[in-house]
Amino acid sequence: MDEHVAELASDLQAADSAVALTGAGISTASGIPSFRGENGIWGEEFDPQSFHVCRFERDPDGFWADRLRLHERLIPDDVEPNAAHHALARLESAGLLSAVITQNTDGLHAAAGTDHLLELHGTAKDVVCHRCGDRRDADWAFSVVDSENRAPRCSCGGMYKPAVVLFGEELPRETLVEARRQVADCDVLIVAGSSLQVHPAASLPAERAGATLAVINFDLTPFSERADYDIRKDLTEVLPALVEMTCGDVV
Ligand SMILES: [Zn+2]
Repeated sequence: MDEHVAELASDLQAADSAVALTGAGISTASGIPSFRGENGIWGEEFDPQSFHVCRFERDPDGFWADRLRLHERLIPDDVEPNAAHHALARLESAGLLSAVITQNTDGLHAAAGTDHLLELHGTAKDVVCHRCGDRRDADWAFSVVDSENRAPRCSCGGMYKPAVVLFGEELPRETLVEARRQVADCDVLIVAGSSLQVHPAASLPAERAGATLAVINFDLTPFSERADYDIRKDLTEVLPALVEMTCGDVV
């Protein structure tokens, strides 16, 4: 690993509070394709308008049929967190990371054991009743859609919706407020696997108040050239290296 990673490791150890902001790039090593960009899910294969909240409200059965197809394409059956997810969970348990803010809905940070997790776009692991707010496991909903060819219904008469932020929906306000607070209060902000193209994640690094910024991403982001550390390397190598340098163990 290069000297930037070693310097970032010592900054982490000196910091009172550090926060990670993650995007699709952290999950590609787990086999999850990205939504945007070259070979992204949105485009010829899936039309984003099919997943608009208006479609869900107008045609819940059709929405859920498409949602099941998307899920099967997006989440491999044997999907597991990779070394980068585990490394962030380890940094948190070592007291070196205060929170993980993520744009991802795949649930892999939670599966890796991250405790203080702020999922800006919700989670695909749950469904929530659009009328009464009851939450259930998404696997149950998918099995209903698969076997009965209709949207999963709640006992209150409402329809279950994926607990993700659909197109046309607002982000969960409390989560966003807490994410902004974490960024404003931290000493080190690590952006990992986000191209920083989609708001609000794209604007979060600008809200840090003097914190050291590390951008770990293969491709250039709007913040890469302004970052204190611009590390264009494999996250599944860089983040475990940080753990090794700070905690002395291997993830
Ligand atoms: Zn309900």
